[in-house]
Formats: sequence, C-alpha cells, structure tokens
Amino acid sequence: MRIILYSMCFFSSFLHAHVLRGRKIFGNLVAFTKIYEYNESVIMDNWILKSANTLVNEQQQERTIAPDEVKVKVAYVLASNFDAVLYSGDGGARYPKTIGRFAVGRVTEAGAECYGLERNARVLLKPTRPCGRCLSCKTGREEECSSVAIAGRDFDGFLRDFVVCKYDEVTELPDSVNDIEALCTEAVALAESIYDRLELPAGSRVAVIGCNFAGNILAQVLQYHKLIPIVIDNSPVALEKARACGIYYSFAADEELMSNLNDATSGQLCDAAVYTTCSRLDPALTMRVLAEGKCAVLSGFAPINFNIPARELCDKNATLTSIMTGYGYTTTAINLLVHDAVNTDVFEKEILTEFDPNIIYKSLNDVTVTRKGKMTIFKLII
Ligand SMILES: [Zn+2]
Repeated sequence: MRIILYSMCFFSSFLHAHVLRGRKIFGNLVAFTKIYEYNESVIMDNWILKSANTLVNEQQQERTIAPDEVKVKVAYVLASNFDAVLYSGDGGARYPKTIGRFAVGRVTEAGAECYGLERNARVLLKPTRPCGRCLSCKTGREEECSSVAIAGRDFDGFLRDFVVCKYDEVTELPDSVNDIEALCTEAVALAESIYDRLELPAGSRVAVIGCNFAGNILAQVLQYHKLIPIVIDNSPVALEKARACGIYYSFAADEELMSNLNDATSGQLCDAAVYTTCSRLDPALTMRVLAEGKCAVLSGFAPINFNIPARELCDKNATLTSIMTGYGYTTTAINLLVHDAVNTDVFEKEILTEFDPNIIYKSLNDVTVTRKGKMTIFKLII
C-alpha cells in the first residue's frame, strides 16, 4: 500500500513538473494533460526544492496582499551556481524552499502603503534580507545584520510566476538597466562589497582567482575603482573575456604564473587576493600570490567545501575573510550598471522559455561541462 501511495505521489509531482511546460517534449502524455487543460490559466509555476536533487513544480497558493506588500510577476530568473549548489544538497537549504536567487519582474499589485512603487514598475527582487534574529537586527541596525538571509536557502526564492513580498524587498529598476543586465546586480553588489571591505588605495594590485561570471564582474568593478585586477584562470575563454572587458593582466594558472605575477607586480606580489569559490582552481594559489600581511578573500555564489592550506596562510601572516553576498550594496550596484561601469555584453546569454530546471541545475553542477561566463536564464511566461 505504501509503495502504491509513493508511486502515486511521484507520478503526481511528475505531472506537475513536466506536463504544463513540456507538452511538446512529452507528447505521449497528451491524454493526461487534457485533464488539466480546462484550468490551465490558473495554474502557476512554483519550483520548490523539497530535498537534495528533488525540485518539483507545484501550484502556487494565491493570497491577497497586505498594505505594505507588492505582488510581482516574475519575468526572468538567472540559473546560478548558488541555486545549483542548493540543488545538489550541499548549500544548506532549509527545505522546502522555492529555488532561484536572482530575478526581475513587474509589479502587478501594490498595497496602499507601498511608498514610491506603483503598478507596472519594473523591479529587482532583492536576493538577500536581514535575518531579523541577530543582535544588529533586534536593535534596529538591520544594515549590519550578521547572518544575512539568502533567497532560495533561508527564504523562498523566485523561480515562480508570482512573488508577494514587502515593498522594500524589491528595488525599482531605472530604464537604462534592462532586465538581463539587472540579473547581474547581485554580482556587482558582491564586488562592491569586496572593494569596500578591502579598503585599498588606488593602484593596489588584487588577484582575482577564477574569472567566471562573478570573477569577471569583480575584476571590472575593481578596475572601475582604480585598483589593478590581476585575473587568474585556466580557461582561455574566461581570460579572453576578461581582456575584452579591458582587464590588462590575465594569466593562466600554470607553471609560468609566479614569474608573470612577479613581472606584473615588480616582485611585490598582490595587495589582496580573492578566490572565487566556484572556480575549482587550487585554493593554495590564494596565499601564493599574496604579499606578506595582506588579505585573502573567499567569495562567489557557490558555497562549496574545499581545503585552505593553513600553513601557507600563517607563513604569509595573512588575514582570511569570506564575502558571499552583496547585502547592502544593491543600490550602489544598480548605479554602477547605470553608469556602464560593468560590461555585461561579454557574457553569452541563453534564454529558455521551455525548460526543466532539474536538467539545468544538474548541468551547472557537472564539473566536466565548461560554461565560463555564460548566463542561463529562465523566462517565465504567464
Ligand atoms: Zn540579522
């Protein structure tokens, strides 16, 4: 009996997950689809991560909005490494949670107390929120929250047709920042947060180890602030993209790296080193490229486990910090995008209207698939 029940549950979620979007692909399920067709207009997507590797599409509950809430029709969601790590079970998600950290949409309803936001406003759904529980949050200093909540991990993310949230959990987008550029906001905010934390004077040299999407944007933001980024990656494509963005120093992580680095820094090595966690390059590089007594930063959108060589960290008398969100820097990041401080054209874009996110996240987790600097974007339809 239990087995039958389980298989019915599985079959039901399978229908939810695949039939509505994938009718063309699953042509042999047309007969079953007809059962759902009469009320298709009220069925709205909501991709919920139930447990590791179990992402199912379930109908979203409609609810009326409070006076300080907005209802946002989600337009685009970026499939990120962060979501993929959550999907794999390694990212510490508190199941069940709707997946999707980076999204933009349109306001379809705004409550009476949503100051400055009106219907049809184009908005970024903020990917981070104050935790509400730490000392800073409890004493009215949410901007200093020590345990920032992240969409998809700590609260429901945005891979769904509609989001109802507080009006200050979205930010209106200026006309000059299009939807796809806006999906880069958190990466720019993360970079800005790192720049701010390093407090380095102009002309300082910063190694950026791993130059995928987040690493490339970081190098561009550092350069905008008159620091000198030195990009290190093993992918010729990623290095070429960095050069196309005007980054002067871009080196392969090979046996010539240290001699290249000595040339670039007149033998002084770097004033800071940022290791992007999804790069899968040797973390020991972070200490190796660093001058004595400087700061090593772990950063990026993939909170995966790896080993840091402690002896090399101690030998260099280095400080180690991690910065994994752009919390507090969203407005600054949007301003940088308005001023074209970051070139996002360099990233190849893949916009999917028919998709099974399970396949996309599995592919993002596949280390054998090279996808340096590619943005895979889900376009929601309703
Ligand atoms: Zn807090």
